[in-house]
Amino acid sequence: MPELPEVETVRRGLQPVMEGARITKVEARRGDLRQPLPKDFVKRIEGRVVTGVGRRAKYLLADLSSGDVLMMHLGMSGSFRVAKDDAEKIPGEFHHPRSQARAHDHVVFHMSSGVRVIFNDPRRFGLMLLVSRPDLDAHPLMKPLGNAFDAAMLAAACKGKKTSLKAALSDQKVVAGLGNIYVCEALHRARLSPKRMASTIATRSGAPNERAERLVDAIKIVLQDAIKAGGSSLRDHRRTDGELGDFQHHFRVYDREGQRCVTPGCGGTVKRIVQVGRSTYFCPVCQK
Ligand SMILES: [Zn+2]
Repeated sequence: MPELPEVETVRRGLQPVMEGARITKVEARRGDLRQPLPKDFVKRIEGRVVTGVGRRAKYLLADLSSGDVLMMHLGMSGSFRVAKDDAEKIPGEFHHPRSQARAHDHVVFHMSSGVRVIFNDPRRFGLMLLVSRPDLDAHPLMKPLGNAFDAAMLAAACKGKKTSLKAALSDQKVVAGLGNIYVCEALHRARLSPKRMASTIATRSGAPNERAERLVDAIKIVLQDAIKAGGSSLRDHRRTDGELGDFQHHFRVYDREGQRCVTPGCGGTVKRIVQVGRSTYFCPVCQK
């Protein structure tokens, strides 16, 4: 699943080719994504101008001149290709390579500029919905990690949870948009053990304690840093222009098993364990 900073790089790639252009034609080749495409999908989009390309959490939001917002989610394996004549590129930086198999091109937007924006998604966990702009804030998919994300919200979600903090943070129902890499990084920055019980960041009544405050600060810093670093993460990845990116992000713990902990004065060694089927990297010395 693409991490939030990766989605931001996709947004930055789509913005210049979509914003200000009219969508002259939509091909909805396959409508059975995670949810079916809305029935009037093509009709509500064709002929509209894209007035802005924004993002909330991992949702890309294209504002249309009709007042609708086209909500797009990459799911597990989704990506876009921007095509003009015979040239194509995939906007965005991804940790894992993206499919370009034509069989998985499910939706194609033809722009008035002559560009085609093609949505490809082999596993079809992606999503495209239309929501009218005034209804957007109240939409159930638009909640966590928006501006409202704070310690009170996180504590309320973890209240009484007997699972590990790592598992709780990886649960998209608790924090949408925070992937495995950034859960590890945020826990290290907050000096909280991934094995700690989730309920221990809340009081019995569900109010945030000092750990919840620390954790929320850490999550925000980690995501901002990653976005600033130009996307993610990523090793062995070439930019769409063929140059190797200079964004090799320096992780504190992720993928650093056996290496020295970077916390000043700690001296611990980064360990890897598996939790809920995913690798967790952490420092058993300074993360309590
Ligand atoms: Zn340490």
